[in-house]
Order: sequence, then structure tokens, then C-alpha cells
Amino acid sequence: MRPRVTLIGAGPGDPELMTLKAARALAAADVVLVDELVNRGCLAHVRTGARVIEVGKRGGCKSTPQAFIEKLLIQHAKQERNVVRLKGGDPFVFGRGGEEVEALRAQGIEVEIIPGITAGTAVPASLGIPVTHREFARGVTFITGHTNDGTEPNWQALAGSGTTLVIYMGLKSLEKTLAAMKAAGMESTIPACIIENGTLPNQRQRVATLGTLSGDGFTGPALIVIGDVVRFARVEGEMRAAAELKARAA
Ligand code: SAH
Repeated sequence: MRPRVTLIGAGPGDPELMTLKAARALAAADVVLVDELVNRGCLAHVRTGARVIEVGKRGGCKSTPQAFIEKLLIQHAKQERNVVRLKGGDPFVFGRGGEEVEALRAQGIEVEIIPGITAGTAVPASLGIPVTHREFARGVTFITGHTNDGTEPNWQALAGSGTTLVIYMGLKSLEKTLAAMKAAGMESTIPACIIENGTLPNQRQRVATLGTLSGDGFTGPALIVIGDVVRFARVEGEMRAAAELKARAA
């Protein structure tokens, strides 16, 4: 039998937002290689006796190098039957899932992919924000705020796209991003928000505008959402942010 790996998306945080197919594959696993971002509640499906190997990977923090993770995966795939690779959200949305699949297939290892709900839709939804809306957003663009090579997206094109902008890993570069958006002609009155630990009990958010949004006090993982659809954000979010700011000023 050819060695194989199941690449699974664990969903955005809340363990109940994982798919049934993912839960079933986890229950059948002999070994699970799991990312740091994955909520530990998702591991409840893993059977006793199966091995769980943590391979942390979080922007800016100490992490297991990607090449090492790939080597480890290949090694396990060649030795064990049911190898699962568990990643946060969807494995193919800023998850390096594509790189891992490539590395495994190059070794003749079969890969089954079980998609997950990405943070980019589920986290805004936790506040009632629809990422597309016939009247307010003709589409949605997922972008990363983190680049290794320092290249910038085409802000001009994004500003004119009429799509909601959802930025993953955008907390550290937030100020720079907001400045670039304004320079590209986006109005500073456009609604914008930060949502941290979305769908989890410790979720926090700040609803503001392009001109006033600040990442102060957030440590991530957090998503930045920019566009008219942010108007749908539940009012408590705004009230909580305002109260938070007032408390800090006092
Ligand atoms: N594959 C994942 C994304 C991995 S990149 C997915 O599809 O969701 C990691 C980034 O995703 C974080 O830095 C953050 O920007 C975002 N993210 C993931 N989970 C999140 C959550 N629960 N709340 C807010 N942002 C989250």
C-alpha cells in the first residue's frame, strides 16, 4: 500500500466548527502532527494511544522550520498507516498546505485533503459581518499582511476592487497597511475592524474606520476586515471597544 497523509483543516477556533469528515479522520489517526494555532479542543476526537506531535508555527514566534515539518511528515508517512496533518482554518488558505502537499507527493506519498472553514469568513461572521453582500461588496479578497520578502500588494488595484478586504496576519503591519490604503485613495471613513481569537470564548474585537483603527492592545491571532460590510458588526462589539478605550484612558 502506498503511504498516505490526510491533510485536515481544523476550522477557525471553536472545535464545533470542524467538519464531520475531519472528526472521523482524526478518530482513525495513528499519529497527528498539529499546528499551534489549532484549538486543543479539536484533539478530543483523537483516540487514546494515538500520538500527537506539536509542530508550532506562528508568525514571529519561535517555530518549527517548515522544512523540518515536511521531513517529519514524510518520515511518519513511510512508517505509519494513518498519518494526519492538522492545520488551523483551511489548510490551503495561508496554511502552507500547498507546500506540504508538494513535498509529500514528490516522495510518492498520497495526500487526501479535508478542507476546513477559514477564519476569513467565519471570524467576521461571528460578529454578523457577511464578507460579501449584493449592496455593499461585490466580492472578498483574502490577503496576508505578512510577507518575507517585503513586497507589497497592489493597493491601488485592491482599493478600486469593490471587494471586502480580509487581512490575515496583519496586526504587526497594521499601521503601514492603513497608510498604504489611504495613499491608494481609500476613504478614511470606510468601516474597519480587528477581530482577535474569533469564535473562541476569549474573542475580542474593535470596530472603527480606516482612519481610526488601532491595533493597540491586541496580540493576535487577529483578522482585519475592511469594507462597508463591517457596518453589520454587532453593536456590542463597538460598545466594548469604546469602553475598553475609555478604561485605558482613565
Ligand atoms: N489556514 C488558516 C490561516 C492561517 S494564517 C485559515 O484558513 O484560517 C494565521 C492567521 O489567520 C492569523 O494570524 C490570523 O490572522 C488568522 N486567524 C486564524 N484563526 C483566527 C481566529 N480565530 N481569529 C482571528 N484570526 C484568526
